[in-house]
Amino acid sequence: MIKLTTRLIKFLSKKEHTHFINGEYTKANGTNQISVINPATEEEIGKVAIGNSEDVNNAVAAAKKAFAYNSDWRKMSPDDRGKIMYRFADLITEHSESIAQLVTLENGKLIKDARSSDAGGAAKTFRYYAGWCTKIEGETLDLSQPQKGGRQNFAFTRREPIGVVAAIVPWNFPISITAWKVAPALAAGCTVVLKPSEETPLSALLLAELAMEAGMPAGVFNVVTGDGRMTGASLTAHSDVKKITFTGSTFTGKIIGKTAMENVTGVSLELGGKSPAIVFDDATDLDFAAQGVAAGIFRNQGQVCVAGSRVYIQKKVFDKVLTDISHAAEKMKISHGFDESAQLGPLVSKGHLQKVRQYIETGMNEGATLVSGGKDNPMDKGYFLKPTIFSATDNNQTIINEEIFGPVLAAVPFEDMEDALRLANDSQLGLAATVWTKDISKAMAMINRLEAGVVYVNSPVRSDPNLPLGGYKQSGIGRELGKVGVYNYTTLKSVNIVY
Ligand code: NAD
Repeated sequence: MIKLTTRLIKFLSKKEHTHFINGEYTKANGTNQISVINPATEEEIGKVAIGNSEDVNNAVAAAKKAFAYNSDWRKMSPDDRGKIMYRFADLITEHSESIAQLVTLENGKLIKDARSSDAGGAAKTFRYYAGWCTKIEGETLDLSQPQKGGRQNFAFTRREPIGVVAAIVPWNFPISITAWKVAPALAAGCTVVLKPSEETPLSALLLAELAMEAGMPAGVFNVVTGDGRMTGASLTAHSDVKKITFTGSTFTGKIIGKTAMENVTGVSLELGGKSPAIVFDDATDLDFAAQGVAAGIFRNQGQVCVAGSRVYIQKKVFDKVLTDISHAAEKMKISHGFDESAQLGPLVSKGHLQKVRQYIETGMNEGATLVSGGKDNPMDKGYFLKPTIFSATDNNQTIINEEIFGPVLAAVPFEDMEDALRLANDSQLGLAATVWTKDISKAMAMINRLEAGVVYVNSPVRSDPNLPLGGYKQSGIGRELGKVGVYNYTTLKSVNIVY
């Protein structure tokens, strides 16, 4: 059993946690709280306040003050801003075990994933964007028309920080997705109010403590905990918020998009996925492809936006590849996240487990063939599910059309490239896709025609701070990470000096 770090023991001893506003923990205005549950043991690990509109107002006011023209943050040179962000990244690395353990406690995920994806991923993202502080630039432009009266001119653009950013994040990668938003927003010179998911709010508070220890001026990074209906809705409707950056379900994204337009607030939406993995019969190594497809769906219990949850396998090799994927799934060790040898942990919550089970039942009712797994809980306690695989003959199944966000894969055979493209693009969503082939011409043809924001060839999708991520169709609006990630938090001013 892993020993909790001293810092985490102290953090958890608090039991009741409040918002982090203007550089300190702040008493909540309301009395309502959310119980944070360890999904492996079903025990409570702490309570957080549900922020009401007054809490949200306070947080936005702190962020607005920290963004004021003559504030410490605004007056700070990009180089000094970068130094604080590097320190923040170093502190995340120094406290990575505390962060990872806390993420495992509240989300259930495997400690090795919490270490690499959440703590490690966040440190990398902050370090990457720390470098961007000093590289934000406009352009000089030669205008298309001469100036009146034969006068000269000099035209250019400036990129300015957009203002107070509202960041709303889901629970599946609570700290790394937070970093995808907070790091570029801070690099651009903005200030942030973060609302973490109600399932995983504690790690966000620990992150806010580290931001202060890194020397971030008060009010630059605030956290308001709470639900979507009250806390999230108050934040997105706030007229002093100048940019909403949201990651979550397509359902919630549509609500937030509408709210954003009430105040014409800028909005980026990173939404759901139902991503295809396409295995051609010439895949370099079919065993390797099967392992990759299994890793692509079962990592993080399938609770990954870019998870390859539909696999299309060319007819000639359908049975072999499906059998290999099933063997890989059946061999996975299911255990709690602190078991270092576990390969599949619990789902995030009881409600989510029920939702995923319901999909499995629907798959069976609609006539898909259950190849392995099922809806029974393989453990005595906790929200566990076996990795589950269905096969079907076409896309006409709920489990192939809707995002399940659990360890459930549906396999369908295809004839040729046109058939693969027809099946893969037949979706309202378009976040990611993977293609498994050794034929580069075929891979390029697929890359060009797949309706997906991210395409990986011969590998499951993995994020990288320098690779933009986002979706086609109802998988979202905008991209995060990379250069576009920092530009999300700037606004462009066009200037023309006539002389
Ligand atoms: P969710 O939409 O239920 O919740 C996401 C966040 O939105 C939470 O913090 C929640 O409290 C908040 N929220 C809910 N209703 C709100 C409202 N009316 N106003 C403001 N905020 C509100 O999603 P989830 O279950 O936490 O996360 C899973 C989803 O996230 C999946 O659909 C997954 O695909 C998606 N996701 C997308 C990406 C991506 O990069 N595209 C990455 C990770 C997860």
